[in-house]
Amino acid sequence: MSVALEVHTCSRCDRESLIYQPYSGLHLCGTHLVESVRKRVSKSLRKQLILPKNSIKSIGRPFRVLIAISGGKDSAILLYFLHSILGSRRDVELIAGVVDEGIDGYRSPSIDCAEELCSMIGVQFERISYPDLSFPEMDNVVESLPKISENNFEAKGMMPCSFCGVFRRQGLNSLANRIGADVMALGHNLDDVAQSVLMNLQKGEVDRTARLAPHTTQPIEGLAPRIVPLRWIPEQEIHAAAIHLNLPIHHGDCPHAGGAMRQRSREIIATIEKDIPGSRHGLVQSMDRIRELAIDSKNPSSIQSCQRCGEPTSRPVCQSCTMKEWFE
Ligand code: SF4
Ligand SMILES: [Zn+2]
Ligand SMILES: [Zn+2]
Repeated sequence: MSVALEVHTCSRCDRESLIYQPYSGLHLCGTHLVESVRKRVSKSLRKQLILPKNSIKSIGRPFRVLIAISGGKDSAILLYFLHSILGSRRDVELIAGVVDEGIDGYRSPSIDCAEELCSMIGVQFERISYPDLSFPEMDNVVESLPKISENNFEAKGMMPCSFCGVFRRQGLNSLANRIGADVMALGHNLDDVAQSVLMNLQKGEVDRTARLAPHTTQPIEGLAPRIVPLRWIPEQEIHAAAIHLNLPIHHGDCPHAGGAMRQRSREIIATIEKDIPGSRHGLVQSMDRIRELAIDSKNPSSIQSCQRCGEPTSRPVCQSCTMKEWFE
């Protein structure tokens, strides 16, 4: 019997399947997909989020987790599950924070979604913008980019995302300092992490690979350690789960996105995953093994304090101070 549009049944119940996981062979309905995502988030949290025995006693307040949100599907799922798993604990406090990059027509609607989700589930919402940090808004960065590259050799060929990534990291650090976060949760999914592993290795940046989040076993002094509870969940499953749960999410794309390398890496990862399901998991597992080896050999950390702003950095003056200077 051949049917043009095959409808599958969930491997766990009689409902219609919403998603197929080629790497596990399972078909999952919406309910069972959500359950499966929740299980994987819980498992990652058990590994990555090391809570003090009794935080109220030991640090005098609940253990504070900053959840970096953007209004997109990944961080919406992150916030939703962290709240559903940890929300009722008296020794843990969840605060969501968004960085406003100043991208007209894109960031404000997505911040509205982020704020709506926070008020829906009752999580404190914090916000910081690039100008709050004395950085130019991204729309202005893009406008000045030709001139900046002309005047600064180091800036030649840099894409908007190179600036945005550095500025956003500062924004998140600043939010973490503002609220006194003990840990910061980021919404990177399995595809994001596999792409980063590939790009770092492609550039020979093994140290950088070893420094990728989670920072549970190797915290960087002066920084709230990052956790990435979605790192084993494929992007497609996160998207389907967010839709099934009817979370307010923004679907638009950033007009300045165009990082050619990330795009290429996305295509390569999608292709090898299609050819050999489980490749993404394999790449991330390889990274974990590299990290273990790096810790075993007690590699001395090259992290120091920036001479200008004091933030942790691997160079005398941090990247964000260098970039700030270009715009002055
Ligand atoms: S796509 Fe690039 S410029 Fe746009 S928000 Fe993301 S990092 Fe920033
Ligand atoms: Zn089911
Ligand atoms: Zn600095």
